[in-house]
Amino acid sequence: MKTTLIKLNNWQVKKRQVKAKPHEILVLCPRCLQNHTCAQDLISDVHNCKHCGKCQVTELVKLCDELGVNLKFATGGGMAVKLVRDPGVKAVVAIACEKELFMGLLTTIPKPVLAVKNLLPHGPCVNTGVSIQNVREALLELIE
Ligand code: SF4
Repeated sequence: MKTTLIKLNNWQVKKRQVKAKPHEILVLCPRCLQNHTCAQDLISDVHNCKHCGKCQVTELVKLCDELGVNLKFATGGGMAVKLVRDPGVKAVVAIACEKELFMGLLTTIPKPVLAVKNLLPHGPCVNTGVSIQNVREALLELIE
């Protein structure tokens, strides 16, 4: 059910051909993408990442800098919704688990959000991952 609705959401955002300038696009990440042993403060600024290679934050920061889009981390659903509802944000690529994506999509309508499911090689909520290729493809869909 949730998978179908997430797919349906992505399909309708693509069908509407939503486009935005890079600086109007937000890539929203869950805290669990950061390696659990890392003390760098990514909530204040993702560029606090030291690029040690222990998690995929390095690759995400490089991708978002290359494309000129904003990358932010959220500690929870409330913070994520606040970031998405920022009037300066015209389109979003949201990375999260299926449950969080489903709840997030419902609470941020009508803002266009392309959802990318995160990978759970160690189970939920710890040292999660994401397909950087899927994030890149979602961003290229949105960038005008
Ligand atoms: S790549 Fe960045 S965020 Fe990930 S563990 Fe290293 S310093 Fe921390």
